[in-house]
Amino acid sequence: MTTLGRTLKVRLYTNTIQATQLLDMSREYQRLANLVSQWVFDHDFPLNSLKINHALYKKFRQGSPLNSQMIQSVFRTVVARYKTVLEQLKQHPYRYQDEDKKWMRVAKDLTWLFKPLHFSRPQADLVRQSNYSFGNNLTEISLTTLGKRTKVPFTIKGFEQCFQTGWKLGTARLVHSGGKWYLHIGITKEDTDFDPTAPAQVVGIDRGLRFIATIFDQQRKTRFFDGKKILLKRHKFQKTRAELQHRGTKSAKKKLKQLQQRENRWMTDINHPLSKTLVTTYDPQTLFVLEDLTNVTFNTDDLPKSLRNSHRSWAFFQLETFLTYKGQAVQSQVLKVSPAFTSQRCPKCGLIEKTNRHHDIHEYHCQQCRYQSNDDRLGAMNIAMLGQEWLDGVKHPRIKKVTATG
Ligand SMILES: [Zn+2]
Repeated sequence: MTTLGRTLKVRLYTNTIQATQLLDMSREYQRLANLVSQWVFDHDFPLNSLKINHALYKKFRQGSPLNSQMIQSVFRTVVARYKTVLEQLKQHPYRYQDEDKKWMRVAKDLTWLFKPLHFSRPQADLVRQSNYSFGNNLTEISLTTLGKRTKVPFTIKGFEQCFQTGWKLGTARLVHSGGKWYLHIGITKEDTDFDPTAPAQVVGIDRGLRFIATIFDQQRKTRFFDGKKILLKRHKFQKTRAELQHRGTKSAKKKLKQLQQRENRWMTDINHPLSKTLVTTYDPQTLFVLEDLTNVTFNTDDLPKSLRNSHRSWAFFQLETFLTYKGQAVQSQVLKVSPAFTSQRCPKCGLIEKTNRHHDIHEYHCQQCRYQSNDDRLGAMNIAMLGQEWLDGVKHPRIKKVTATG
């Protein structure tokens, strides 16, 4: 089982009175959070809501208009924030050189803080049902305030799915931003994983330059996702980049950075729909098989010189990441296999022969059995075969070249 987590960002359509109510409440929440933070700091960081509750609850109940549920919520908010900071400190140890010039590392903990964590904005964490709930046929949210609960209109438009298909709504954070009020609701869904022992569809994906992806599936259907337009656009990006690098001025450097960002955004715009198409074209329980491209450079014989350098591109890795993430939500899985010989093996007779591949005409001709195919398609076929081997129990499937021994 996997737990999928998302955050639902819901706009609250408050009137003026409600806006004031929410502001008063979240300011009081902020005030208590800072008091708790000071107490935690003064008492050697007990990251335990119960302990804090024991020490502060009575005092808060007497001195604050927040209800008892919300006071408990303040304790949890502060503990969670300190835990996050503790994790960050652990990840950044203190480094120094000792007398022998040897680098030393010291792990940091919360005692490295020289003042309590500060809650700088009005906020509130609301527990489902106790502090917020949906009403009137999902058109309004009822929220805790310092006085009576208030009912604020909202719309589920765009979020309909999250209210139907097994998502569980958790604690929500009330957020004030740009003069508007939002509720960020944490939602989770328990999902079954891809099951390697159950029947599965295997889809081989060959990533390349001419075709950004060539897909081969079990119905022996091939799909090509053209990369030519992408190549041309990259070429343009690269020309501009070279010019800017040549200039080398401060403003050129700034422009260079902007260009990089633009190129990244543009690749993201390609990878998102491509991974989405793949996940929606095939049913759940699909194994997407890709080559492990770590440490691989592409064969670039058929490319203009100017394009031969950018081929271990992050764009390929981004596609992999998107596919993994989107696949997870529908019980599909990404498998990475060794790229060795995937473009040299004949899928019909198994012969591995480099010269069978004709780069100039993008075709594969088997010398032994006369099988012919487009060379990108052939790669995807071999990749799919390795996926099937994995399903059959081979742990690290790869194509091995066996040399005949007499
Ligand atoms: Zn053959």
